[in-house]
Amino acid sequence: MLHEEDTICAIASGMGKAAIGIVRISGQDAVSIVDKVFQNPKGRKLTDLKSYQASYGHILDPANNQVIDEVIVLVMKEPHTYTTEDCVEIDCHGGPFVMQKVMDLLVRNGARPAEPGEFTKRAFLGGRVDMTEAEAVMDVINSENDLALSSSLHQLSGNLKGKIQELREKILHNTAFIEAAIDDPEHYSLDEFPDELKETVNELQSQIAKLLSTFDDGRRIHEGIKTAIVGRPNVGKSSVLNMLLGEERAIVTDIAGTTRDTLEEEVSLGGITLKLIDTAGIRETEDTVEKIGVEKAKKSLEEADLVLFILDSAEKLSEKDQEIAEQIVGKPTIVLLNKEDAGQVVGEEDVKSLFAKANPFAKDETIPCISTSAKLGNGKEELKKLIEDMFFAGDVSYNDQIYITNSRQKAGLVHASESLAKVCESIDMGVGEDFYTIDLMAAYESLGDIIGEALEDDLADKIFKDFCMGK
Ligand code: GDP
Repeated sequence: MLHEEDTICAIASGMGKAAIGIVRISGQDAVSIVDKVFQNPKGRKLTDLKSYQASYGHILDPANNQVIDEVIVLVMKEPHTYTTEDCVEIDCHGGPFVMQKVMDLLVRNGARPAEPGEFTKRAFLGGRVDMTEAEAVMDVINSENDLALSSSLHQLSGNLKGKIQELREKILHNTAFIEAAIDDPEHYSLDEFPDELKETVNELQSQIAKLLSTFDDGRRIHEGIKTAIVGRPNVGKSSVLNMLLGEERAIVTDIAGTTRDTLEEEVSLGGITLKLIDTAGIRETEDTVEKIGVEKAKKSLEEADLVLFILDSAEKLSEKDQEIAEQIVGKPTIVLLNKEDAGQVVGEEDVKSLFAKANPFAKDETIPCISTSAKLGNGKEELKKLIEDMFFAGDVSYNDQIYITNSRQKAGLVHASESLAKVCESIDMGVGEDFYTIDLMAAYESLGDIIGEALEDDLADKIFKDFCMGK
């Protein structure tokens, strides 16, 4: 199905943290949709701008006037744009969370999350690129999606797909039953059916609501938490790394042709993935002079979401610890008081003064501390709990939970839920059973969009297979 009638939006820049992130909107309502959520200090509307003119202002939610970000908006009018349609680019701050908020707002105000490659598809349909050029772009996009897909599969172990298929199966079964009963009332009765269907639909609705509630956590889990392990030599960094990797070692990629610098490792702690930065540095041999830690810390800290600062708690703190603490200031940090088994002489108070000295402006800040023994493998559970608390407010259960991880999946579920609500309305209004099937199939299709399956002949297959035996 082609969607050129509607206006699509997507995050065009990467999902990592960056200075600037770009959200892109294309379609006939692109300018008017952004105008609904954009406010220029002088009240200038985007509709009054010429093509390729930019405007400064804020993105804010018209429902509650809450400001979401400070932005520059670039308006590009058809036909001289990438898609040949009206396009708007919103340059916001480059955090995944803020970009996602801008996306959600656009979707609530009339845009639709773009399918992969859809901007390019529109460029092709608009005659701006030929098929070979479009394919070349698509190849790039698809290879990225494959990577994203394999990491999703790693995260979700196929659970989301299974869940969506289970929901679809129920919908299909009921639709097929209605169709069969309408065709063959002698054998199939719909007498008690509406009540049963309503129960089923309510159950489906609550399962969809549960999936929708996982959206924010799912995204963080999907992307992982970039974690730097820092500390002066000999405090136990590589021992802690090994403790974390343990049996739960997730992925080790040692890209051929490149050196240890590209070694990237992931650790699964329950449902959380830590992306460990610069573990190659940690694994370097002891006699390297530059293993002072400070330079290494500086480098890994630049991109870290979380810092694990390892101290040797069996020894007095040193100048080197102080230097590293100074580099960390302002980053979400957990201090590991390692070597607790060797007799601790460093405690939480020492850590407090270390950081108070490092950052005199935040004297009362408490940096969470955990005592660990990498040698004995102690402290891992506590660390996991602390990270959960820091990043997810500790309010979700991780085991076996299925998460949705992007706006597209979310939109599919929302549409499915809306269609199912209509089925309930029809039942309450007592309209004919054939009305139910329209909305049931709409829900089925919306769920199918999430996993990338089209309707095709599923229904016909089902009717013949399950309901028309012996005919
Ligand atoms: P790094 O230089 O910071 O990576 O430190 P290593 O992990 O190489 O550890 C340095 C030394 O401390 C090694 O001899 C480890 O066996 C020892 N070590 C690490 N963690 C512990 C611990 O929890 N307890 C004790 N007693 N020794 C530890």
